[in-house]
Amino acid sequence: MLDPQTIPGFLTAEEGQALADAVALGCADGASRSPVPPPVVEIGAYCGRSTVYLGRAARAAGTVVYAVDHHRGSEEHQPGGGYDDPRFWDAEAGRVDTLPAFRDTIRRADLEDVVLAVVGSSAVVAARWTTPVGVLFVDGGHSLATALEDWRGWAGHVAMGGVLAIHDVFHRPEEGGRPPHEVFLRAAASGLFDPLARVGTLQVLRRVGPRPLHAPAPVQG
Ligand code: SAH
Ligand code: MG
Repeated sequence: MLDPQTIPGFLTAEEGQALADAVALGCADGASRSPVPPPVVEIGAYCGRSTVYLGRAARAAGTVVYAVDHHRGSEEHQPGGGYDDPRFWDAEAGRVDTLPAFRDTIRRADLEDVVLAVVGSSAVVAARWTTPVGVLFVDGGHSLATALEDWRGWAGHVAMGGVLAIHDVFHRPEEGGRPPHEVFLRAAASGLFDPLARVGTLQVLRRVGPRPLHAPAPVQG
């Protein structure tokens, strides 16, 4: 079986397991009114390492993964960006292109029936999206503008009982960039998401629903 850690990418095996757990929780219990379990949406798939963890768990939950990525790389993947990889430079286009590597990963993992590539900008897809999402995994661009665009565009699509998982959340500024942490702070402060788990730099939150009808109101202390 393909070991996702052999695929170029940035997710640890422990974080991958936490993503799989999130799918088992968010897609089984997501209070979707659809006859099929709600799907997983991944923002930022790169070469598909994280997508393999999500895809295997999605298959077990009877659902699918929409893997959204323009495959042109984030700021840090551009030449000289610090995480640039010459294997993914398309000289003719003069652009990064991770789509062939992504497709190869999904074929080798035997997940072509479960993982659906959505090739384009996260904000453009989000603006037309209408399906409740069981697990939203946010691992796209890390500029503040892009991170906030992902939060604004996608957070409202997470189903009641669904999961929001944010990668590269560093609580201390000296450890890394702030934008994913800014999104985490907004999610926690919104009152719509409860922090559930933290594994590595993966922060997992759960979408809180309204109190069930006819259930007693919580006693005010
Ligand atoms: N989840 C992957 C790593 C993702 S790297 C793993 O752990 O293996 C971040 C990805 O986000 C890159 O592939 C980049 O192309 C994509 N990305 C960055 N900004 C984006 C945007 N605005 N819309 C769509 N994809 C974006
Ligand atoms: Mg990441």
